Amino acid sequence: MNEPVVTGCVIESYGRRVVVSPAGGGEPRLCKLRGRKLDVVAGDQVRIEQHEGADDWTVVERLPRRNVLSRSDSRGMVESIAANLDQLGVVVAPLPACDPFIVDRYVAGACYAEVAPLIIVNKGDLPAGAGDLSFMAPFEALGLPVCFVSARAGTGLPDLVALLSGKRTLLAGQSGVGKSSLLNALAGDALRTTGRLSEKSGEGRHTTTSSAIFRLPWGELADSPGVRDYAPPVVAPADVQRGFPEVLARAQGCRFQDCQHVREPQCAVQAAVAAGDIDGRRYESYRRLLNLNRQLVEKRGWRA
Ligand code: GDP
Ligand code: ZN
Repeated sequence: MNEPVVTGCVIESYGRRVVVSPAGGGEPRLCKLRGRKLDVVAGDQVRIEQHEGADDWTVVERLPRRNVLSRSDSRGMVESIAANLDQLGVVVAPLPACDPFIVDRYVAGACYAEVAPLIIVNKGDLPAGAGDLSFMAPFEALGLPVCFVSARAGTGLPDLVALLSGKRTLLAGQSGVGKSSLLNALAGDALRTTGRLSEKSGEGRHTTTSSAIFRLPWGELADSPGVRDYAPPVVAPADVQRGFPEVLARAQGCRFQDCQHVREPQCAVQAAVAAGDIDGRRYESYRRLLNLNRQLVEKRGWRA
């Protein structure tokens, strides 16, 4: 006789192996995925089954997702990173020098997934003028929450916890911004208890397809190496503008319904850039993402 089917949340994912925390409580279980097609990442709700005589568990079904944050690899193939998120916390720092285009790409990926972006400026203990963060102004103008912290000095952390409370937030950021330090400062104890089951499975957490969720008394933090060098998933060319709220907001004013806001006449977006109502750097970034998306579409073709 099969054990009754159990549902639960994936709290660690290592490709074809996942750790599931049962909905009714109890010890997390290491599970295999049934079949090749099941796409399961941290944050997914799944059904798991244990078969008679065997002590291993199998994920047999993924329950419907509220959303999934995904990425494009260099060949344009889409990979899921984490599911059922409330927020994407983009970590930036004055040093090492931040590439604003990467921040725009994280924000675009969050917009595509309909996950709310939040910007966390770390290393506030560095002297003023340590790096150029002037690219942040358009994000504040867009109304994105921006929180200033120092993982090292511990400043700003209560304000950050307030923004993360009651939510599941994936932390993203370029290597060196202090993402691990921040995770440690916020979730130190929870970090030390994860990874135990992965040792059994023999798969580490370093691959881009791995992801984990840390459940804290005030909320949940998700982490994945897949967000270090991030390109948003390939989308239909007309959808690239959805990654730039200030572009999307003006697109209705364009003469052509399928305007890509590059060279078309009577384009409300280009007019807003010329008038200084859309930040020039953000607009350039929109064009770069449009080009990157086009190159990836050409490489692999557009599929929904
Ligand atoms: P990650 O690559 O984003 O995970 O970054 P790490 O957490 O490994 O940190 C990269 C470097 O930045 C390390 O040398 C940290 O000690 C340093 N760092 C992290 N947070 C802070 C901070 O708040 N202030 C300062 N000054 N350095 C920090
Ligand atoms: Zn236009």
